[in-house]
This record gives sequence, C-alpha cells and structure tokens, in this order.
Amino acid sequence: MHSKYIFVTGGVVSGLGKGITSASLGLILKSAGYSVDIIKLDPYLNVDPGTMSPFEHGEVYVLDDGSETDLDLGHYERFLDVNLTSISSVTSGKIYSTILNREREGKYLGRNVQLIPHVTNYIQEAITKNIPEEDHIRLIEIGGSTGDMEGEVFLESLRQFKQKMGKNLLHVHLGFVPYLPCSGEYKSKPFQNSIRGLLQRGLSPEVLIARYAPEKNKTITKDVLDKIALFGNVKKENVIKLPDVSSIYQVPENMYNSEMRHILSSFVGKEIVSGVPDFYSRIKDVRNKGDEISIGIVAKYSKLSDAYLSLIESLKIAGVEEGVNVKTVLINSEDLIDSKENVKSLSKLDGVVVAGGFGKRGMDGKIAAIKYVRENDIPFLGICLGLQMAVVEFAKNIIGLDAVSSEMYDDNEKLLKNMDVIVDFMEDQKNIRKKGGTMRLGGYDCTLEKDTLAKELYGCEDIRERHRHRYEVQGSFVSQLENFGMKISGKHLYKDLDGKNQFLVEIIELSQDTHPYFIATQSHPEFLSRPSKPHPLFRGLLKAAIK
Ligand code: GLN
Repeated sequence: MHSKYIFVTGGVVSGLGKGITSASLGLILKSAGYSVDIIKLDPYLNVDPGTMSPFEHGEVYVLDDGSETDLDLGHYERFLDVNLTSISSVTSGKIYSTILNREREGKYLGRNVQLIPHVTNYIQEAITKNIPEEDHIRLIEIGGSTGDMEGEVFLESLRQFKQKMGKNLLHVHLGFVPYLPCSGEYKSKPFQNSIRGLLQRGLSPEVLIARYAPEKNKTITKDVLDKIALFGNVKKENVIKLPDVSSIYQVPENMYNSEMRHILSSFVGKEIVSGVPDFYSRIKDVRNKGDEISIGIVAKYSKLSDAYLSLIESLKIAGVEEGVNVKTVLINSEDLIDSKENVKSLSKLDGVVVAGGFGKRGMDGKIAAIKYVRENDIPFLGICLGLQMAVVEFAKNIIGLDAVSSEMYDDNEKLLKNMDVIVDFMEDQKNIRKKGGTMRLGGYDCTLEKDTLAKELYGCEDIRERHRHRYEVQGSFVSQLENFGMKISGKHLYKDLDGKNQFLVEIIELSQDTHPYFIATQSHPEFLSRPSKPHPLFRGLLKAAIK
C-alpha cells in the first residue's frame, strides 16, 4: 500500500474533540496492524506552546525529545501508545521563523517570499517529513476552526496537497450540530455553513462527523444527517454521528462500531475486523462496580482542569487498573494559606497530588498541603514543583533550616542571601535569559536506589522520565536531608566538567515505616501513563489511597 494521509479539520465551534477523533482513527488503524503516526498543525504564532500560560492553552505536553507541544499530543501518545517527536508538532510560529531565517540566510535570494508558494510548500514539506514510502498512515489534525483567518494557509496547503495525493488522502471534517430547545430540533445549518466554507476554498471533505450533545428522549434524526450529506457533497453513509460520551476512551469503540470502520476499510483497501483494545470496555466495568476514591490535586490553576489534563488522565487510567473510580478534586493552593480549616479539608481526601507549576504564587499553599499530608499520613505524590516544595517543607519543618526555593523570591539575590536556598537554578540555567525552549526538557535517565519504594514501584533499576523545569534540589543539602530521614531514591547520574561523578535529585521519599506513601519526582510521570501501561507512581498512590 502507498502511504496515506488522513486530515482532520473542524468547524462551527472549537473544542469539538478533533484531537480525540484523530487519536481514535489512529487507534483503529494501528489495531488493524498499520503503522501510524500523527501530526498537529497549530495556526497560532507562538513557536511552541511552551511560553503560553496554561490559562490560554491548557497543559504543555512534553515529548521525550524535549519538544513542548499541544495537549492533543498527549491524547495521541496515550491512545496510540507511541513516543512522538518534534515533527509531530508544527505551528505557524515554527513555520514562519524557519522561513524568515532561510530568507535572512539568503536562501531565497532575488525572490519575493510569499505565502504561496513558500509557506504552502513548507507546510507540505512538514507533513511529508520522514514518512515511509509504503504501508504507513499519517494523521494530520489542523488546529482551530475552519474559517479562522490564521488557518487559511493550512487549508490552502491541504487543497494543493490533496491534488497531488488523490485517493491516498482522506479528509474528515467535524462540525457541531446544536439542539434548539424551543423548536425541539437539532439544527444542521451551522455545520452546513462550515462545509460551504470549505467548498469555497476548493476542499470537499470525504467524511463529515456530526458532533452533538445528546438530549433526553431526542436523538438526532436521519433527516438532519441526510441534509448535512446533501449540502456537504458526500454520500449519506459518510455522515457519521458522534455524540458526547462520558469517557473519551469510549470514542474509538463508538467509531469502530459506526460506518467509520467501513470508510477506513475502503480507504486502506482491506476490511478492518481487528476491533480496538479492551481497555475501553473495562472502564465500564469499573464504573459499574468499583468504589470511588477522591484524590486532591493541589494546583495553581484550579479552575482549569485542562491545565492538568495528563495528570487527571493518569489518575483515571491507574484507577481502571486498580478497579476504582477516581474522583479528582482540584484545590487552589492559595486557599490553603488563608485558614487552617482549608488545610484540614485535605483530611477528607484519600490521597493528594501536589502538581507542577511556575512562579511563586501558590507555593506557600503547596508547602502547607505537604506539611499536612506528611503529618497526617495521607498518601502523597509530588510532581516537579511538588518535589521541590516537599524538600523545602522537610528542610524547614524537620531539619529546621530557613529553607526556600529561589523561585519563591523571584530570584532576588539580596533577599536570598541569608536563607538556605535548597532549590535553585541549575548551574547551566543561571545565565539563560531567553524563555522559549530553554529549560531542562524531555527524557532523562534515572537510576533507582536499592530498598526504596521507588524501586519497588517501578520494579527495575533504570528508568527514564520526561522533564520540564529550571530549578533543582541543591546537591550541597543532600546529606542533611538524608541524615534526617528523607531518602533520595532516584538519581540522574552524570560526570561534571572535571570528570567527577555527580547526580541530580530525581526522586525523594520517606520511609514507609513513617508514612504510608510519601514520594515525589522531579519529572512529569503523567506524560508516560498510557491506558495500556498505567504509571507505577500513580498506581502506587491509588493502592495506598485504597488502603
Ligand atoms: N518552577 C519549577 C522549575 O522550573 C518547577 C517546574 C514544574 O513544576 N514543571 O524548576
């Protein structure tokens, strides 16, 4: 089979689940034995989302190669159980900065550099990069909604590319079909309009997915779907209805059981009969039979669960494995310093995660939370900033140091002079002023110490986890921490410039003689949880929480 492309676009509104749809299509094809990968094209001008606040954009998902990417890459990796690379994340910012650099280097000397052909060609280069000639299927999701001004050049690139690819390209377009309570009907007009917009741009999608929120006793009628087919220029059976469901992991199965399976079968030229992994049906069993446990996530952006998407998914995924429904409760870390009562409310939880984060706001609340869970035997997992705050808390309240992270004082050297700066810039970060892509990013190896909870949980000695941070526990304090009972159970080993063996603190823990589950990691284990491979640190937390 010649390698093939599936494009996914969306219209009417954003947030339709193009990422989940793309990942689900990928999963059906992967399960049928095809080699599959996936690219996200994001029309915004940031080079990557690494410099955007989670408020703007949801979480920043980090790949093993250190790329900071859109949260949809997380859906792709979780559904497809693959490790993607930087070629899977293409933004307008990345495209324009490359083209402008080429222009400055004189690569286009004498020519007028234009959207067409230079940008459209570059986009086509990006979507065909490293694709094997045969037997591969690449999915490409175009971010935003069709009709957005900044997405135009991507649609034009798709139009040109489709001319070249013909039958080896399938265009799937999603649209929202709203329900109008006053007339008691689903309305297809907005979707029709968004398809008309594509037709005007020379694009005629082969598959239309009608997204809708199911109403009680009202299902979307065949009439409505047929109207979408008529105006959308597709066969009736190529309009697929995809209602909201309670778990995103139901989507691949729903799609497999729809006409979509036949459409994909004829696209690849072979009947797909392999089904999709059974993880998705297991969720149902746990929902029906499992007990509920509640896990608090102490965080800065407590109003925005998308800022902690992979973390929340990791807990749910581990819950399926442990047979419990995990209710996640986002707790604003700033609320925890206002009153003792607020901290005490953590006692209602079965376990607590202190999430990663940037900037001093909310740090004191995280320290208060950690003190409380440590003293009250509440299972605790600290992630990145969560580890740094666990170390500060321990150094302050157990060792009695005037311990701080320099980030808590905006690195104000004067103020920090007389304090015990136990978490500080990494040596090679001290003089970096640029913000984009300059942290310790991506996968780093870690060695686990014998007779530790970490080693028991992971079940091996050498692990690799993904990182995104600038600050680090300072080696000069390690022996004090250890003398007072904090174990450094995971270390990144390296040689310094003089060839001496050194290490960075990767995992800390308290002995299980003193606390049922107190462990924190400098990495982001949430980026390595997969439905088929729940992460040991989250499983451990839930096991302890169930107990
Ligand atoms: N702000 C901290 C650092 O840069 C922690 C980062 C994080 O939690 N991802 O080191």
